[in-house]
Amino acid sequence: MNILVTNDDGIRSRGLRELVRALSEVGTVSVVAPDQERSGTGHAVTMHRPLRAVEISGIPGAVQAFQLDGTPADCVKLGVEVLLEHRPQLVVSGVNAGPNLGTDVLYSGTVSAAVEGLIMGIPAIAVSISDHSEEWLGLDKAAQLAAGAARAIMKNGLPEDTLLNINLPRLPAEEMKGIKITRVGIRRYRDFVEKREDPWGRPYYWLTGEAVDMDEGPDSDTRAVKDGWISITPVRFQLTHEEFMKELASWNLD
Ligand code: MN
Repeated sequence: MNILVTNDDGIRSRGLRELVRALSEVGTVSVVAPDQERSGTGHAVTMHRPLRAVEISGIPGAVQAFQLDGTPADCVKLGVEVLLEHRPQLVVSGVNAGPNLGTDVLYSGTVSAAVEGLIMGIPAIAVSISDHSEEWLGLDKAAQLAAGAARAIMKNGLPEDTLLNINLPRLPAEEMKGIKITRVGIRRYRDFVEKREDPWGRPYYWLTGEAVDMDEGPDSDTRAVKDGWISITPVRFQLTHEEFMKELASWNLD
């Protein structure tokens, strides 16, 4: 199986290296990843300047690797269309430093790269750990799970238009409770703009904030990870509100 690995933390991220190492046991791994951190860029694509790809070496387990001065979605597009010799049969994005749970999947470059795989007709996995620190708590387990999920997809296939979003809790692997299959929760942010002043008295702003989980059902991804479970969500992008279409048609809209 040909596997394309990408991420949004940049090609030098330790998470990507560990993922490549684990997946090289499952298939032939190629890498196309951003040349720098691109977290939180969602599904952005680069259309108003040229993109440059540089082939690099030194990623153990990868047969080919390119760094691209673009977004995670750009990496998948270029990887599939022009850079890689063989079309990938699986896109794996991560291992991200920091969780991608609930509504955050929409902001996430990690998940968006997997979505780009789906758009191109390739099954995909996004994998994230909850630890942001230098410790990378759970990284080995995350890479191992991605490899297990890749094997399972190879065996069973995934429904069309579906990716697996895997998130691990911030715990040592032996303290994790196991795997829970979950739904995407609803995560909002409180106090998410911090206003500061530069040395010349001009205001500037940081987007930040505290996550507030609105949907804490027992099978939500946010709840599961808080409770120490490994969350695996089958995510799809059927965005139409089917049930509301009929009522909307009955509205007087002009
Ligand atoms: Mn990231």
